[in-house]
Amino acid sequence: MTGHQAGEATPLNCGWCGEEFAWGRVGRRPKWCSESCRHRAWEQRRAAESGRSAVEVVERVVVREVRAEVMPRGREWATVLRELALQIDRGRVYDRDLDAITESFAEVMRSLNRRDAWLRRGQS
Ligand SMILES: [Zn+2]
Repeated sequence: MTGHQAGEATPLNCGWCGEEFAWGRVGRRPKWCSESCRHRAWEQRRAAESGRSAVEVVERVVVREVRAEVMPRGREWATVLRELALQIDRGRVYDRDLDAITESFAEVMRSLNRRDAWLRRGQS
């Protein structure tokens, strides 16, 4: 026990979001800063007990399935490349993956230049 008196606010950290919150040292020591954090922690625990893992993991599995089935075609590549640019800007692509992406992108540029040169062959 520390020198705190009952009623004196003690800082605690929320077990869900990690935010610091004040506890008036009355009643049971709380684990969560708010009702919504308590509820989310409960949902997480319930999901884990039912054999499902955390919500984020479920999301990742869905993304992987979509990725395997949908290969962009034609103009859809423009959308995909724009999305890639956005993800790089927002830091959603790992640094370790940038070299491979740069290499593939250079290959796309070389390919576009070859195609452009081929298209211009018949002209003038
Ligand atoms: Zn919280």
